[in-house]
Amino acid sequence: MALREAAADLLAWYDRHARRLPWRVPPGAVGEDGGPLRADPYRVWLSEVMLQQTTVAAVAPYYHRFLERWPTVDALAAAPLDAVLTVWAGLGYYARARNLHRCAAVVSAEHGGRFPASETALRTLPGIGPYTAAAIAAIAFDQPATPVDGNVERVVARLFAVATPLPKAKGELRKIAEGLTPADRPGDFAQAMMDLGATVCLAKRPRCPACPLAPHCAARAAGIADELPRRTARAPRPTRYGVAFWLVDEAGSVLLRRRPEQGLLGGMMELPSTPWHEAPWPIGAARATAPTKTLGADGWTALPGVVRHTFTHFHLQLAVWAGRAPGIAPPTAGADGRWVPVDGLGDEALPSVMRKVVRHALARLADR
Ligand code: SF4
Repeated sequence: MALREAAADLLAWYDRHARRLPWRVPPGAVGEDGGPLRADPYRVWLSEVMLQQTTVAAVAPYYHRFLERWPTVDALAAAPLDAVLTVWAGLGYYARARNLHRCAAVVSAEHGGRFPASETALRTLPGIGPYTAAAIAAIAFDQPATPVDGNVERVVARLFAVATPLPKAKGELRKIAEGLTPADRPGDFAQAMMDLGATVCLAKRPRCPACPLAPHCAARAAGIADELPRRTARAPRPTRYGVAFWLVDEAGSVLLRRRPEQGLLGGMMELPSTPWHEAPWPIGAARATAPTKTLGADGWTALPGVVRHTFTHFHLQLAVWAGRAPGIAPPTAGADGRWVPVDGLGDEALPSVMRKVVRHALARLADR
């Protein structure tokens, strides 16, 4: 395949069909100095971190909220972590929000509030992996970097009819993608590949007749575009089980606690819960992990139904037990625990699974 021609065809298509995205500068935009207008690295970084594992439509409102509240990386660095986690809540993968905050602090304190331009320097920053570093270097600084995500892997696997299944094919696909990146306009090329994967070379039913790469595409020529990329079958997700405790004090406030810094949902607030195990919890064992021992065997009521949530590596089923604990003062909630009025729960940095628990508890208690 003539790589140069393919890159040129894709860039010409991008000039006409680039998606309008809030963090993006359209192709051909000119800056005040008469040179090409580049996207703000802070905005590119923010959008790329948010876009991991989710869609443009899901990210847009969060992106606007973040920018409104923290228009610069210095402003974000100065924000309390809890405020960042609260605005992030609902986007999932909370370690990313914590790294976002850490990264802002490093850029602000060690780089004078400016993101470094090189892929190598970007990769030293908290939470910036190979994909994000390449995306920022290419899009914000027009460096010859190649961000490779699932969309790009799909386009490349089809374009070159790579039959090796993923994830084994990752290295091979990356090399091909890097070879495809032109020296001229690498930032626009990276965004063109993203757009092609998102709007034309779709996972199911690729729109080959509308594709600028169709004349170069080996999978299309062989009639196997739908079959690529191949994937090694994944092991099914296991299910884990736990019990979440809805504990209310005499003022009607609910006990929340902070999860450990390390691990899943690190540092987020939660309703206290048992660890999450491979088997449902026997009643006695669950009671032994409850956040207060002052409630006897009759003190907890198992609410009907369960809360289901799916994480990347497992499904979770949480039973919810409700109890009243008059007379427990805040300090006994534990160093990281806090009593929160029910109408204040919406302001807490609760992850999606815990928001489901809150909704479930309120609905079941209202039914009683
Ligand atoms: Fe994808 Fe079809 Fe374009 Fe090939 S021709 S890159 S399979 S949309």
